[in-house]
Amino acid sequence: MIVITSVFGNIMPTEKKTDCCIDNCPGVLEEPSLVCIICGASVHPACFKSSVRKLAEYPTSCHDEVFCSSNCCTWYGKEGFDREAVKKEREELNTLLKKQLVALAASAQVRVTHRIDNKSRQMSKPMMIRRLIGAKFGEVEQQSASNKPSAKTIHDKFRLLNCLFSDEVGALAATADDVSRADMDTGAVGGNSTYWKLVEQRFNEGFPDNSVDGPVFADKIHFMHPSIQNHHETVNPAMHGTFTSEELRKMWKEIQKDYD
Ligand SMILES: [Zn+2]
Ligand SMILES: [Zn+2]
Repeated sequence: MIVITSVFGNIMPTEKKTDCCIDNCPGVLEEPSLVCIICGASVHPACFKSSVRKLAEYPTSCHDEVFCSSNCCTWYGKEGFDREAVKKEREELNTLLKKQLVALAASAQVRVTHRIDNKSRQMSKPMMIRRLIGAKFGEVEQQSASNKPSAKTIHDKFRLLNCLFSDEVGALAATADDVSRADMDTGAVGGNSTYWKLVEQRFNEGFPDNSVDGPVFADKIHFMHPSIQNHHETVNPAMHGTFTSEELRKMWKEIQKDYD
């Protein structure tokens, strides 16, 4: 059997913005006219070019094949990967209502919200479907999502300084046997150390009521750093994203590098 697939870039401008299946699709004034060759997800040509084509996971063995995600890139050419099963799953999920997808996601512990302008928003239906498929057919995407640094803001940097130089976290750095001050300064301590795990918790959840620093300590500006103190934007450390200990450790290294 000979299968001839051709994709014509026949894009008519339309008045309506559409979402495609690609992560963080901003909504584009064109039809998602491309199709992921792995799972059949619809993809905007613009989103494909600006995001998926640039992924580290994009297979080096192909040039213009269309994928919708790092997942599908990774699945390309993978032995034993059941392409038909993925397509079938997608067709079935497509018949569900959004609220049914949300319920399904909750039971599968799949996150279907994302942050836009520092607000938590529910994802579009195509994105939810893609995540559900990702969760069902592999952990690849979640892993790469956790490797991908979240967008860091100036507020996050100030919040991190608060946490690092709080009495509580500072005391842990001073007493922990395996954390020398020098290690901390160079960021040579693994993100999984007790120290960075505490930083992660305080950064994401704030300081507890009974902590020495007080419950709102992370939310106010207490410390400056030469690399960021000249920033003109009004800084509000209470406005923060969620980061892993490893990401916070990297952020601290970057703050220091900015200063060098
Ligand atoms: Zn798009
Ligand atoms: Zn796909």
